[in-house]
Amino acid sequence: MQKEKLFGKTLNELIAVTKRVGLPGFAAKQIADWLYKKEISSIEEMTNLSKKTREVLSVGYELGLYPPERTSESSDGTKKYLYNVLKNKYIETAYIPDNDRATICVSSQAGCKMGCIFCMTGKQGFQGNLTSNEILNQFRSLPEFSNLTNMVFMGMGEPLDNITEVLKSLEILTSEWGYGWSPTRITVSTVGLITGIKEFLEKSRCHLAVSLHSPFDEERRKLMPIQRTNTVTEVLDIIRNFDFNNQRRVSFEYILFKGMNDTPHHIKELARILNGIRCRINIIRFHPIPGSPYFSPDEEATIKFRDALNNKGILTTIRASRGVDIQAACGLLSTLEQNRL
Ligand code: SF4
Repeated sequence: MQKEKLFGKTLNELIAVTKRVGLPGFAAKQIADWLYKKEISSIEEMTNLSKKTREVLSVGYELGLYPPERTSESSDGTKKYLYNVLKNKYIETAYIPDNDRATICVSSQAGCKMGCIFCMTGKQGFQGNLTSNEILNQFRSLPEFSNLTNMVFMGMGEPLDNITEVLKSLEILTSEWGYGWSPTRITVSTVGLITGIKEFLEKSRCHLAVSLHSPFDEERRKLMPIQRTNTVTEVLDIIRNFDFNNQRRVSFEYILFKGMNDTPHHIKELARILNGIRCRINIIRFHPIPGSPYFSPDEEATIKFRDALNNKGILTTIRASRGVDIQAACGLLSTLEQNRL
């Protein structure tokens, strides 16, 4: 019999577990403590539960933590971890140390349905949604777990296409009975799924990042098929009408493609569509994937583009490229692994 995994369950789900196995309700809080506040590796180590209770729990449940299968390390300290999920599917997790910050970039799906043409994961197609156990295992089983200061959902997959499990993992990360992280340490990125954004804004307090890449409908459709059904105009309307408090941030990711979305025309239109939204733009350098017809502009052009947006009053930064020498193109490692099977 396949045992259910306790790690990745919310407090309410743990209460249901205690009921199922005939334990008092308060045992759920004790189990949550062991799962999310102490670094145990088996149910046997939950020593404030009686031996009998641990035995009863172990019949149908296991802890559910597992290590990555492979690691690659960049000369800049960035590491990539390969995890086996959903019975021999592969996902990647990145660890990005940067002075006093250490960020984990987690995957939320194996593969992806969104088909963005500049993305290796998009080319892989969709293999499945990760459970909150599989999302949070990337965090907890990371060898650098205790150094982590920030988390971004910018790995493989579209987080808001797996919103139930993503929200569950956010609840565990930010609840007082869970990891107790401030929601401002976590950013969830999306291509702009309308219903997902609404639900995410209502049910969590974490930062939102929207992948923009072009302010023009036609051009964005070519880069990101999602624009056909979920337009940026609709996304911006939701954001404009949502009451972001001072703590919560919205940012727009903008991969710069040479000769395509880096013109003065784009700067003007970005300033127009983002008018009235308190936000920032993160410019991302493009790292070509195999067979890609796109290139990154040179450093000077990238800086010029950033400065022009700043001059228009939009806070704009260039994201430092990290881990380029270990196949920074997200999805490449897992695609290679999948092809070996
Ligand atoms: S960029 Fe993100 S949403 Fe687009 S295909 Fe890649 S993983 Fe999916």
